[in-house]
Amino acid sequence: MPIATVNPATGETVKTFEAHNDGEIEERLILADAAFARYRTTSFEERAALLRRAADLLEADGDAIARTMTTEMGKTLAAARAEAAKCVKAMRWYAEHAAELLADERPEPADVADSGARSAYVRYRPLGPVLAVMPWNFPLWQVVRFAAPALMAGNVGLLKHASNVPQTALYLEDLFRRAGYPEGCFQTLLIGSRAVEGVLRDPRVVAATLTGSEPAGRSVASTAGDEVKHTVLELGGSDPFLVLPSADLDAAAGTAVTARVQNNGQSCIAAKRFIVHTDVYEAFAERFTERMAALTVGDPMDEKTDVGPLASEAGRSDLEELVDDALHRGARALCGGRRPPHLSEGWFYEPTVLSGITREMRIHQEETFGPVATLHRVADLDEAIAVANDTPFGLSSNAWTNDSAEQERLVRDLQAGGVFFNGMTASHPALPFGGVKRSGYGRELAGHGIREFCNATTVWFGK
Ligand code: NAP
Repeated sequence: MPIATVNPATGETVKTFEAHNDGEIEERLILADAAFARYRTTSFEERAALLRRAADLLEADGDAIARTMTTEMGKTLAAARAEAAKCVKAMRWYAEHAAELLADERPEPADVADSGARSAYVRYRPLGPVLAVMPWNFPLWQVVRFAAPALMAGNVGLLKHASNVPQTALYLEDLFRRAGYPEGCFQTLLIGSRAVEGVLRDPRVVAATLTGSEPAGRSVASTAGDEVKHTVLELGGSDPFLVLPSADLDAAAGTAVTARVQNNGQSCIAAKRFIVHTDVYEAFAERFTERMAALTVGDPMDEKTDVGPLASEAGRSDLEELVDDALHRGARALCGGRRPPHLSEGWFYEPTVLSGITREMRIHQEETFGPVATLHRVADLDEAIAVANDTPFGLSSNAWTNDSAEQERLVRDLQAGGVFFNGMTASHPALPFGGVKRSGYGRELAGHGIREFCNATTVWFGK
């Protein structure tokens, strides 16, 4: 895949980049190694001052970097600005909280006395240079939610970003440099996916985090496993959105639309399967479909646009194949199901609602990365849970019910890294984020995320 900015709204190649060669990769590895030797000894106060400076700079750059993101991957300008603002917030949150999240843990002396200890504690120490393999769909946020905690913990970062967002990738390196981070603390490697294995096998790289598709995750995890290096994987999702009889249907339908088409439908935590109790199925389906059909598809730079293009031509083809397979096997398009006839350039797709989904359709098991929703009618809560869990993924889940017994049951039984009631899944710096099953392992954000790339060191004193 060439490293290039190609505007998905027009198909125009805006800028191409040369990949780093072996010598340039080696220079960056040397720098990362040397930077870690010094940076690991800095205090939390020093690290927080650097991260706060980076947050201030990003805040000032918000509009410009939002335009770059929109040009590179097609999200609406409003969504891109919101993403930049969210990154600022997360940086400030980690600058403020990292010291307490990584404070020494001191068990009561009585609890460890039978180990022969006078006292003992746990110290969270950094690991070293961490490789971050990142996707294009939230090109700033995915990186920042790795980088902010990793840098606050005293690690240094090497970013291999998706090949279609090189300008955002280079912006991030420049941001941390301008903030005053010592050279080598955060670097961008302009490399294709085939060069990842060599970097990950390098002894100076101690761990990796990957956000992306399952094949990419499997590849990175198997190399890391072979090298006995820690990994965090944030992979795909096909999150369920349950609507049960006690739900506020209007609110549920409105939120369902946002949850499905956020980021032009290309979010791992977008709700993708709408599982609706038969008592409220017709009423919900009608309101949801009406709202989906009313969305404005078009130029992502235009403030009036709700849904921009898909990020790549291949992404749109993949989505079309899933929809066509479902229609061929008997599904019904309540709206959409095609490219918008009024947009001849770019990789647009109409917001689509499909009903009549059956297990043999590919769309039942695979992730729809675009503005396509599937509707599923269920007879009761048991069937709702069974359909929700009938997927290889387990990222997050959403449920609309005001019945506390149903809520308890769903918290117990939904196979997912999150259960969001009467709202939609969203990440937040203070809440852990990650999945189970084929959605990956490990957690980002909150204390869980910052401790992923730490050496939890037991310190023990004899009597
Ligand atoms: P992708 O093709 O897997 O790419 C993600 C990153 O992995 C890119 O940097 C890519 O580089 C690299 N890559 C691809 N194949 C690789 C390989 N075999 N070895 C090493 N690196 C490899 O995914 P995408 O299409 O960009 O992103 C969409 C996917 O990400 C969806 O499945 C979505 O659900 C998932 N996602 C998950 C989360 C989460 O938090 N769980 C968040 C966002 C997205 P190139 O660009 O050079 O190919």
